[in-house]
Amino acid sequence: MTHNMPQLPYAMDALAPLMSQETLEYHYGKHLQTYVNNLNNLIKGTEFENLTLEEIVKKSEGGIFNNAAQAWNHAVFFCGFSPVEKNIPANLAERLVRDFGSVEAFKEAFGKAAAGVFGSGWTWLAEDAEGKLMIKSYSNAGNPLPEGLNVIFGLDVWEHSYYIDYRNNRLAYIDAFWKLLDWEVAAKRLLK
Ligand code: MN
Repeated sequence: MTHNMPQLPYAMDALAPLMSQETLEYHYGKHLQTYVNNLNNLIKGTEFENLTLEEIVKKSEGGIFNNAAQAWNHAVFFCGFSPVEKNIPANLAERLVRDFGSVEAFKEAFGKAAAGVFGSGWTWLAEDAEGKLMIKSYSNAGNPLPEGLNVIFGLDVWEHSYYIDYRNNRLAYIDAFWKLLDWEVAAKRLLK
């Protein structure tokens, strides 16, 4: 099957100035498009040709994994923002308090993990089969799917995600992320 670009649930200029139209034009319009194009080219004639994107992420490695995971990661990332700040739904807030002590303690730990990724990678909030929430960081295209975990949301810390708006200041980008994150979308991803 041919994999397509995710449709953004907001206009390209709707997240500015926290995330500019120029960043979206490059990050969504060029970087993500390249991952999707590469994936479609790489899977032709392989065992992955007719699998869903999520199945490919769970089963592949090497170049196919890198492009499939980046296609999947960016779909979750870009579809998880809102132009208006959202409150954290009670079901997700309760789980964050249960597993991290408080919402603020969770945000601090998540921000510290994202700031600490050396080079390019991702930091995720994931849920295990028992419903326990955990923070997981990975290099490059990594995500928790191959470990059988469910993803609640993720933060892209590749420099291409913040260099236009924040130059080298990853911490300012992480602060902006909390203002853009659509907590309602995140809460809907909980399985437990
Ligand atoms: Mn990216």
